[in-house]
Amino acid sequence: MTIPHKIAGLGELLWDIYDDRRHAGGAPANFALHARRCGADALLLSRVGNDQAGRDLKALLARNGVDVSAIQTSPDKPTGSVRVHLGPAGAPRFECSRDTAFDQLECDQVWRTLLPSLDALLYGVLAQREETSRNAIRACLHHADKALLLFDLNLRGWNDSTRDIVLNSLSMCDIVKMNETELAILQQALDAGKMDRQDFLLSLLHSYNIKMAAVTLGSRGCWLLTPDQNLHHPGFRVRAVDTTGCGDAFAAGLIWSILNKASLEEMAEFANRLGAFVATRQGAMPEWSQDDLAALGEA
Ligand code: ADP
Repeated sequence: MTIPHKIAGLGELLWDIYDDRRHAGGAPANFALHARRCGADALLLSRVGNDQAGRDLKALLARNGVDVSAIQTSPDKPTGSVRVHLGPAGAPRFECSRDTAFDQLECDQVWRTLLPSLDALLYGVLAQREETSRNAIRACLHHADKALLLFDLNLRGWNDSTRDIVLNSLSMCDIVKMNETELAILQQALDAGKMDRQDFLLSLLHSYNIKMAAVTLGSRGCWLLTPDQNLHHPGFRVRAVDTTGCGDAFAAGLIWSILNKASLEEMAEFANRLGAFVATRQGAMPEWSQDDLAALGEA
């Protein structure tokens, strides 16, 4: 019997609130759920408030097979939320609540015990905005000593504090994932705006000892770059309804493929399939089956 890969998301868990509905979200939560659908033993390391919003989120993830037993409950901070404003072609703009439960993460004994058993762990920038959670996340990355560490850049802007968070996070990851906008922000912020994009990414891989950069290109698929391989995959043509969470699904597909020792081409294809399918549904956590993915047409 093979033991399923153990994959975790670390960071925020929140409600995405639209004008007329709400969807469970937070990149690490979306990632964990899609990793579970891929077949992993998936869990989420996060924190919710002692409120209905938090209980509903945990129940929803649990119904979808994600292990929620390590999600902490804050006695005095509310569960996080994000107002989502949808623009043309379903492109989202976000407004995130402050001083939430996920700003108070603790790398406690429960987390320290399970972190060494992880095969992969995703983390990002948002949950590192306050010092308490930032320190907890850094401690977690140290304890996850056999896990493949995926840093999802997920930038919403840039300032001095973002700079510290990003540079530290780059120094700890095995894989960095970003979309094209984030790549452009990073390049500008690191005073490399005039550099060729590929040269810039290669220098990043080299400077921070990173094994792979994954750049998502929306409807145009993705670009995977390692120190010695370079691959563009054109993605899949779909009718996009809501692109929230496409990048998180992509990340789950990528990690799943890497843990299953796929080739670079196979990784790109599977991750793109998952991302493209999620674009065809409302919210970041739609259900999907292997048949749904197989039915997508080539780009
Ligand atoms: P993010 O959601 O992080 O901004 P992208 O928009 O680049 O990232 O989407 C992540 C991945 O999802 C893409 O690499 C692609 O595989 C897939 N995807 C996103 N939007 C579309 C789309 N409109 N058509 C097809 N695939 C898409």
